[in-house]
Parts: sequence; structure tokens; C-alpha cells
Amino acid sequence: MSLIQGVDMRSARRISTIAMAAVLTISAAAACGDDKKKDSSSGSGDKKTIELKAGSTMKKLADAKKVKVGVKFDQPGFGQKDPASGKVAGFDVEIAKLIAAEMGIPESGIEFVETVSKNREPFIQEGKVDFVVATYTINDKRKELVAFAGPYYTAHQDMMVKKGNPKGIKKVTDLDGKKVCSVKGSTSEKNLKEKAPQATPVLFEKYTECAEELRNDKVDAVTTDDVILGGLIDKAKDDFELVGDKFTDEPYGIGVKKEDTDFRNFINDVLEKSYTGGGWKTAYKETVGKFLSDVPEPPKVNRY
Ligand code: GLU
Repeated sequence: MSLIQGVDMRSARRISTIAMAAVLTISAAAACGDDKKKDSSSGSGDKKTIELKAGSTMKKLADAKKVKVGVKFDQPGFGQKDPASGKVAGFDVEIAKLIAAEMGIPESGIEFVETVSKNREPFIQEGKVDFVVATYTINDKRKELVAFAGPYYTAHQDMMVKKGNPKGIKKVTDLDGKKVCSVKGSTSEKNLKEKAPQATPVLFEKYTECAEELRNDKVDAVTTDDVILGGLIDKAKDDFELVGDKFTDEPYGIGVKKEDTDFRNFINDVLEKSYTGGGWKTAYKETVGKFLSDVPEPPKVNRY
């Protein structure tokens, strides 16, 4: 009996030693995984690291640990600056953070610069920003001046009217003969001219200025992307409503210098990584997803 007990004691000790070793191995591996995650500091949700090619823009930015990003400052859900904290928040801001994180740049190393619709191309060309994430539709005309990674989201142009729709605007052609506010240098301005040529455009620098015009009955409607209007309506639900005539597709891209194909490809890699890793979905849910209930599937990246 005692012999059996002795054997049992020995095997029990051996088992516990093996078990202890296993625990140590597992925790060491976990710690190692954490470190790796911290190194690449990827918010994309995927631990795979993307190569920072020698001599490339991403390598230079990674070495400097600093990046300048053009975003909107007055578009709730995409890019909005809080005057009290000075912080900018929104889906575009989160996309910028994912890209910076892949270069090992912490949030404190990102300088957000306000870009309005009409200065996005010159800001990229003049190097005032390293890239732009600002509800920026990819199109051939803009591709003559800059290059685009993405798309990472597809919006649709729509219309915002006063609550109760007093002018009975149901489709884009109803804008003919009406005063319609939009923003200089936007696709919304161009599409308005094409789709409702009899409308009188009233043009500003920012969509918040258009919202004020509508509030004060100086215009009959505001037109731009549904998600931008959705953000403005979310802040003034008793004043405005969306018409719901999605009359264009607006694939949002990330603008970089025209010739910088390596940087464009790198950003496309980051986007795809955030699609598979779940980082894109989280970014969406925590920003624009708060007022748009469905989380869409991210669009397929176009490596043209
Ligand atoms: N997405 C459109 C554009 O890039 C309209 C929104 C905006 O002006 O940012 O022009």
C-alpha cells in the first residue's frame, strides 16, 4: 500500500512539474504575443506586420514617428473636432490611426490638419499633409492630381431638408428651381449641376455652414453624401431630415501623392488587414455606426 502510495506521490510530483512547465511556456508565449502586438501596435486586429520598404514614405514616417493627416473638422461621425479637448473624432480619424499604428506611430505622433473639400488635392501635392482621410470620393478627375488607396467605404449623395419636408423634395430633380447649398470643390457641387441644372447652387467651404443656411431658411435643401448629412441630422433631429434618394455612389479613398505607389499599396495592405482583423468594423461601430445602425461590409480595395 505504502509502495503504491510512494509511486503515486512520485508520479503526482512529476505530473505537477510537467504541468508547471506547460503553464510557464504558455504564459511566456502569451507575453511574447503581447509584445509583438505592442511593437506593431496594430489596431487592425490582425497581428501580421506589413513591411516598411527601405526609402519609402512609410519608412521615413515610421523613423520620424510623426505623420500629418488631413481630415474634416466639422463632420460628425467622420471627422469632428471637439473645441474643448481639441481632439478630433470619427471614422476617418480611426482609419488614419490604423495607418499610423502600422508605421509604429502612436496617437501622440499624429498631427490632424483640417482639410476642407477644395484644398485636399493642393494639401497633398504641396506636402502640407502626408495623406488625407476626409470623406474623399475617388474619381478619375482627382486621380489626375493625386492617388487613392481604398475605397474603405461607399457613401451616396442625398439631400437634407427642413423637418417635415415643407418644400416636398423627394428626388434630386425636385431641386430644379430651388436654392440648394453645397460645398466648393466637392463632388456634390458637380453632381448637383449635372442632375438638377435648374437649381441655384449656394456654395460654402463647409457643410456646417450649409446647415445654418437651411436652418435660417436661406436655402431649400443641402446636398452632399448621406453619411455627412446623417451626422448633421443626428445633432439636430428636430430641425432637419434626410430625403433618402441616394442618387450617386461615393467611394471614399485615402489621398496620397500621385506618384507614391508604394505608399498607396502600403495603405491598401493596412485596409485589407483591418478588414480581416476586425479593426475596420470596430472603427465603424464606434464612430459613424452610432447613428447608422447597420455595419456594412467593407468595399473591395481597388489596386489600380
Ligand atoms: N465625398 C464627396 C467629395 O469628396 C462629398 C463630401 C466632401 O465634400 O467631402 O467631394
